[in-house]
Amino acid sequence: MLIAGNWKMFKGPHEARVFASRIRQLPELASRVDVVVCPPAVSLAAAVQGLGARSKVRVYAQNIHWELEGAFTGEISAPMVLDVGCTGTLVGHSERRQLFGETDETVRMRAETALEQGLSVIACVGETEAEREAGEAEAVLRRQVSALPRHPALVIAYEPVWAIGTGRTATPDTAQEAHAFIKSLHPTRVLYGGSVNPDNAAVLLEQPDVDGALVGGASLEAVSFEAICLAGAATVA
Ligand code: PEP
Repeated sequence: MLIAGNWKMFKGPHEARVFASRIRQLPELASRVDVVVCPPAVSLAAAVQGLGARSKVRVYAQNIHWELEGAFTGEISAPMVLDVGCTGTLVGHSERRQLFGETDETVRMRAETALEQGLSVIACVGETEAEREAGEAEAVLRRQVSALPRHPALVIAYEPVWAIGTGRTATPDTAQEAHAFIKSLHPTRVLYGGSVNPDNAAVLLEQPDVDGALVGGASLEAVSFEAICLAGAATVA
């Protein structure tokens, strides 16, 4: 069971440090859950410091470039995030795909470099509402998942785009069906993402092929993030 909080473009270094020190004991409360937070790049070091050396909460970047260094203004590299104490990274979030021109090919390159450099990877996939209504959800997932490298340190997050930040969570059956399909293509842990909150976490996380959650909005408050982690712990009791 893995619960990851994606902070998106929220929490500068000061807020990140305070929040991290608040949740640093979380895995002792929820010992059966791996807990990850994904702060913005500028707050990665502060989050690592706020958690302290003994915390089991891991800090992941939200993205990394496929080159290790070079003339890539605005990007950060795997060695840089390792240097500040991160142990993994997201790649292919739908906001990157939709707003910043991320493609299956660039997602693959970012994931491969991250894994080669020793970072864990959460690779995001998911169909848009139009694709689902056109009956193309499986074809889209097949295309996105096929681009990803096979590696024990790579997990997939199924995030239907229509459920991200909208309050429209996938039903447990829809999530289960998509997760089973993804696992038939790529056997790995699959997280669900899309408007997960303390009220719906348990029923989603109870599905047999839902191995955790990638949480956006509800990960920004310690109380709701903790509640989701505890819901995850309860499902693996
Ligand atoms: C996300 O950002 O990956 C996400 C799932 O956001 P939210 O939980 O706010 O829908």
